[in-house]
Amino acid sequence: MSNTLVEFKHVHTHFDTDEGIFKAVNDVSFRIKEGETVGVIGESGCGKSVTALSLMQLVTAPGKINDGEIWFDGRNLLGLTRDQMRQLRGHEIGMIFQEPMSSLNPVLTVGEQIVEPLQEHLLLTKKEAWAKAVEWIKKVGIPRPEKIAKSYPHELSGGMLQRIMIAIALCCNPKLLIADEPTTALDVTIQAQVLDLLRQLKGELGMAIMLITHDLGVVAEMADYVVVMYAGQVIEEAPVLELFREPKHPYTQGLLRSKPVMGQRQKRLYSIPGQVPNLAQLGESCHFHERCASCMEICRTKQPPLRTDGDTHKVACWLYEEGFGHEQA
Ligand code: SF4
Repeated sequence: MSNTLVEFKHVHTHFDTDEGIFKAVNDVSFRIKEGETVGVIGESGCGKSVTALSLMQLVTAPGKINDGEIWFDGRNLLGLTRDQMRQLRGHEIGMIFQEPMSSLNPVLTVGEQIVEPLQEHLLLTKKEAWAKAVEWIKKVGIPRPEKIAKSYPHELSGGMLQRIMIAIALCCNPKLLIADEPTTALDVTIQAQVLDLLRQLKGELGMAIMLITHDLGVVAEMADYVVVMYAGQVIEEAPVLELFREPKHPYTQGLLRSKPVMGQRQKRLYSIPGQVPNLAQLGESCHFHERCASCMEICRTKQPPLRTDGDTHKVACWLYEEGFGHEQA
């Protein structure tokens, strides 16, 4: 059985603004095992990206991790210094984002940008690092790697830039790759190629992946395990097949209904009626109650706990609590 690599324990990341305290991440706990791909899904604003930023300690003011622990490979990251965290990022934790262009330095060649982490973290000489960078450009499937290494970001396509980002993120052989909407900005054909590449590299390198996406197709293809977030909280988690076969939470059921089915023409995508609640005005109720067709009296006054239903399937919904909903039937 694989060991736990990452563990979020009751993490609270809040943004103290003039309009109130936005509870972007509100008591989040879940794990990622070594070598496992965990898909973190939910609508935009549900807290999935802030959860990843909390792990990397890249939450910016007025955001702050107010409480909880984030364990990575036996260390509580919230106890590390800035310098120790910087060492960890780019070495043991790699990251790729939706917009590669905004993460790359426009005045350095892409080769130089792969060389940087190789020199900093693996202490290679400039010559060794350059050779390794060219090797990585080839590994991520870009032809003529020697020539491409000398190119600047603006000279490359979005798909190529995302491949370069993957090379930068993985060249130091991290234990964890955080991929935040890695294919959202790419067109469909390139998306599929980038996902294939990630799968292939994961097979070779064995790193775990925290995959943040709103695209259920990407999750179905890539993830072993899925964490569903809503209004800053985890409301369901399960192995991917189980979640797709038997989603339990009414929100997850709604999300899965939203997914277009290949080959089936739908007049309009189903979208869950209503709005995500204001994260600065969350009360004691189930945060989904205003959008939920199964809402009961208790849902309006008390939050359901996240409970294990079966071995690995967890859900936060009163329907699955003894004495309510399904259990009453
Ligand atoms: Fe719906 Fe109640 Fe379950 Fe919330 S706890 S999802 S309102 S049934």
